Amino acid sequence: MRNGSQITQEHSVQEQNEVQEHIIRWNRLVRICKGITNKKEVNINLTTMQTDLRAGVIFNSNSANIVINGGLCKRESDIIEALAHEITHVVDNSQQHDNMFYERMEEIRSRIVAAYVN
Ligand SMILES: [Zn+2]
Repeated sequence: MRNGSQITQEHSVQEQNEVQEHIIRWNRLVRICKGITNKKEVNINLTTMQTDLRAGVIFNSNSANIVINGGLCKRESDIIEALAHEITHVVDNSQQHDNMFYERMEEIRSRIVAAYVN
C-alpha cells in the first residue's frame, strides 16, 4: 500500500510540472516579437502537422507569420528557441544561415527570455 501511494504522489508532482510548462503566454511573446522585428503585425501559429521542421516564417515589410511545430516544440524553452530562430530571419531580412546567424539568434533569444520573464 505504501508503494502505491508513493507512486500516486510522484505522478501528481510530475503532472503539476507538465501543467506549469504548458502555460505559455502567447500574447506576451507576440508583443516581444513585434518589438524586436518592428513589424506592425506578428502572428504565431501552432501546427500539429507531422513534419521534421521545428518552425518556419514568412514575412514582408509589414508582417511576420511564424509557424511552430507543436509536436517538436512542446516546452516553453523550445518555443522561445524556435521563435528566436525565426525572428532572426526577419531581423536579417533573409532565410540564410550565415556564419553570424547563430550568434545573432542567441542574442535575440536572450532578449526574448529577458522580456518574457519580466
Ligand atoms: Zn532558419
